[in-house]
Amino acid sequence: MYDDSNIFARILRGEIPCKKVYEDDHTLAFEDINPKAPVHTLIIPKGNYVSVTDFTEKASDAEIAALMRAVRKVAELKGVDAGGYRLIANTGTDGGQEVPHFHFHILGGRPLGGRIV
Ligand code: 5GP
Repeated sequence: MYDDSNIFARILRGEIPCKKVYEDDHTLAFEDINPKAPVHTLIIPKGNYVSVTDFTEKASDAEIAALMRAVRKVAELKGVDAGGYRLIANTGTDGGQEVPHFHFHILGGRPLGGRIV
């Protein structure tokens, strides 16, 4: 069940400001408020999806394509496409997801090492 009081829903409604990086009809990307790397941008669908599981079950092909293409666009805009980056989608309780609106983290701007956890 999607809770539209979550912080990203409030950003999408314009109730809370964000530092926008990229936007299209289906997708918004903005800087993480607590960056863990020189580049730390969040990429979210505009639709109400809790997680990647929810998104891939319910979203249209156009929404899914837009989100994946936004990853490439944000990587270019942030200048990490050539050097590389890490794409993360924390999912659910065990995945450590804090905000229950599906989002990708794109991290880069320095060598991130090989550790996954
Ligand atoms: P999660 O743990 O759900 O994958 O990540 C949530 C992310 O949202 C965290 O990296 C956190 O710093 C970021 N975040 C939380 N609240 C806000 C906010 O109000 N604005 C922005 N830009 N990022 C936020």
